Amino acid sequence: MAFIITFTIGISIIAWIIGKPLLLKHQRKRLRAKHFPLQWRMFLERRVPIYRRLPDSLKKQLQGHIQIFLAEKQFIGCAGLEITAEIKVTIAAQACLLLLNRDTDYYPDLHYILVYPSAFVVNQEVRDEAGVQTTKRRVLIGESWDTGKVILAWDEIQYDTQNMNDGENVVIHELAHQLDHESGHTNGAPLLGTQSAYLTWARVLKREYRKLGDQIARGEETVLDGYGLNSPAEFFAVATEAFFEKTSQLKLQHPELYEQLRSYYKVDPSEWR
Ligand SMILES: [Zn+2]
Repeated sequence: MAFIITFTIGISIIAWIIGKPLLLKHQRKRLRAKHFPLQWRMFLERRVPIYRRLPDSLKKQLQGHIQIFLAEKQFIGCAGLEITAEIKVTIAAQACLLLLNRDTDYYPDLHYILVYPSAFVVNQEVRDEAGVQTTKRRVLIGESWDTGKVILAWDEIQYDTQNMNDGENVVIHELAHQLDHESGHTNGAPLLGTQSAYLTWARVLKREYRKLGDQIARGEETVLDGYGLNSPAEFFAVATEAFFEKTSQLKLQHPELYEQLRSYYKVDPSEWR
């Protein structure tokens, strides 16, 4: 009897392990093919200017990704903010921009999108050079956690979507951190596949990181935001923002970095009109 029960449980677990990815694949295929509401398309046209520049095939692909993102992630309004379809579609569109043309599992570790009406205050533990730990209050417009959530400020998102050429985009920034985290460590190196790809990535990004440091030290104007000097992870997030928002400047002044990002993101925004 005990054998039969153990055997049945074993079969059920194997069926679940095999069946779950197949079920997910089927659900996503169905979601991708779902009718994309006209109102959502209007939100994209109005709120996400980069959408208008996409070729039709990528627009269609983005719409499918948005359907899946919205079905799989939970949005939570904070500090009294009511989550609307407009908020969800605007955030999902920019999150999914980073997934185009790629073999993606749709940010598998991300479950919750918390949205505040405006900048929010967090208490952060910081350690000084002497190793003394203190709690500091910081005002943020976005934050990405390795534990399954991103936190965003809606007024900043609205500002960003009206200013798609300034190299600052909180959704793209925080979601780049989520991609970075998929490799197991949020360290500026996302999943790249081969060892040679990692070596080239490390060589190029390290050099560009130093170059940005030198430019900032000399007081020069830079394509990349100096915030990227905080860590390799911040550098990757800032470089991703520039890739989508300051495309031609990045390509002209940092061709090797641009090429690495083009190769990773599998799109070339310089071709979008
Ligand atoms: Zn960051």
